[in-house]
Amino acid sequence: AKEMGKNNCQFYAHEMNASLEEKLALMEGLRRAVDENQLRLLYQPKVDLATGRVFGVEALVRWQHPERGMVRPDVFIPLAEESGMIVAIGEWVLREACRQARRWQDAGLPPIGMSVNVSPRQFDDPRLVKRVAAALAEAGLDARWLELEVTESLIMRDVQQAVDKMRELETMNIALSIDDFGTGYSSLAALKSFPISRLKIDKSFVRDLAHSADDQAIARAIISLSHQLQMRVIAEGVETEQQRDFLVQYGCDEMQGYLFSKPVPPEEIEAMLA
Ligand code: C2E
Ligand code: CA
Ligand code: CA
Ligand code: CA
Repeated sequence: AKEMGKNNCQFYAHEMNASLEEKLALMEGLRRAVDENQLRLLYQPKVDLATGRVFGVEALVRWQHPERGMVRPDVFIPLAEESGMIVAIGEWVLREACRQARRWQDAGLPPIGMSVNVSPRQFDDPRLVKRVAAALAEAGLDARWLELEVTESLIMRDVQQAVDKMRELETMNIALSIDDFGTGYSSLAALKSFPISRLKIDKSFVRDLAHSADDQAIARAIISLSHQLQMRVIAEGVETEQQRDFLVQYGCDEMQGYLFSKPVPPEEIEAMLA
C-alpha cells in the first residue's frame, strides 16, 4: 500500500509539472500574442425584450494560437491576470472594440452599445481612466456607446477606491455594469453607492431555470433588486425558449445567449443590423 501511495504521489507530481509547463508555455506565447496580432474579438448581441431589437454587443476575446488553434478566454484570461499581461491585452481589446463600434457607425448602421469586459487587475490599474479616454478619442467614438462590465470581486477589494473610479467614468458618460452578478460577494450596501446602470444575471442561474425553484427565486430577486435600485437587468446564457419565457415573465429587460446568437465575427453583426 505504501508503494502504491508513493506511485500515486509521483503520478500527481508529474501531472502538476505537466500543467505548470503548459501554463508557462502559454504565458510565454501570450507575451507575443498582442504584438503578433493573434487576438481577435467576437461580438455577442444583446437583445432588448421590449422591442426585440439588438441594442448592443459584448466583445469577447479569442486567441488564435499559431500551433494550438483557438485558446479559450477562460484559459488565458486568468493567466494574463496572474502575470499582469491583462493590462496590455485589455488595452488592445478596448481599443479594438471602440474602433469596431465606430466602423459600424461609419458604415451607416444604427448605433449600438459596445460592452467590454474589464478584469480586476485592469480595473485597479491607475491608468485605466486615461486609457479608456484615449481609446475613445482614437476611435472617434462617443463615450455613451461604451459600457464596461466589471465583476463583483473586483469592486469589493476597496469599495471607496472603486466608487471614485466609477464616478470618474460616469462623469465621462461611460456606463458600468456588474457581470456575473450573484456569484461574488457584493454587499447590497456597497451596491447602492456604485454608479451602476445594469446588473447581469450570471448564466449559472439561468441554466436550470426551468427546473430549479432556487434559481427561479434568485433570478426574480436579482430582477427585482435591479429595478428597485433603478438599474436595468440582463440575463446571460439564455439558450432555450423556456428560459426566455421565465425571464420575460419575471420582468427581465434584456437577454444574451445562444437562443439569439452565439458570439460572432463583426461581419455577422453588420448583417444583423443592416
Ligand atoms: P463572461 O464575461 O461571463 O462572458 C460570457 C461567456 O458565456 C462567454 O464565454 C460567452 O461566449 C458565453 N456564452 C454566451 N452565451 C451563452 C449561452 O447561451 N450558453 C453558454 N453556455 N455560454 C454562453 P467566453 O467568450 O468563452 O468568455 C469566457 C469569459 O472570459 C468571460 O465570461 C469573461 O470573463 C472572460 N473574457 C472574455 N473576453 C474577455 C476580455 O476581452 N477581457 C476580459 N478581461 N475578460 C474576457
Ligand atoms: Ca461579461
Ligand atoms: Ca458570466
Ligand atoms: Ca466573467
